[in-house]
Amino acid sequence: MIRAGLGRDLHRLAEGRPFLLGGLRIESDRGELGHSDGDVLAHAVTDALLGAAALGDIGELFPPSDPRWKDADSLVLLGQAWDLVRREGWKLVNLDCVVSCEAPRLLPHREAVRARLAGVLGVEPGQVFVKGKTGEGLGPVGKGRAVEALALCLLERGEP
Ligand code: MG
Repeated sequence: MIRAGLGRDLHRLAEGRPFLLGGLRIESDRGELGHSDGDVLAHAVTDALLGAAALGDIGELFPPSDPRWKDADSLVLLGQAWDLVRREGWKLVNLDCVVSCEAPRLLPHREAVRARLAGVLGVEPGQVFVKGKTGEGLGPVGKGRAVEALALCLLERGEP
């Protein structure tokens, strides 16, 4: 059996916040606002995995109203969600992501981000890909006020 999962997230950017992508801190004059650490890519990936397994979404598992998740490390949240999915017998075939923001550029950090995500998921970096896009000057992403991430995953498991 195979299942596809889709995740999408968007965070505002603000000065003085760390810019995090898949657990990697990237040098930037602004970073994601959020109740957790705001790691937009980790959140999109978490939702893709949970969605593929029909196990809910990140807001249900880690509600922003719960003080336990204030400034939480989103890679830890991703690991916990992935544990739930794995316990149902699912294995990751591949994960493909798009991050859209005006700055910083993803490409110099792409391999490090792939390695981080692959490490948390216990797969090879070859199973994880991440692409960077800009907003072409349009909308909140293009004006540098937000960063958006999309994630698509494929899971497989044997018939019970
Ligand atoms: Mg989020």
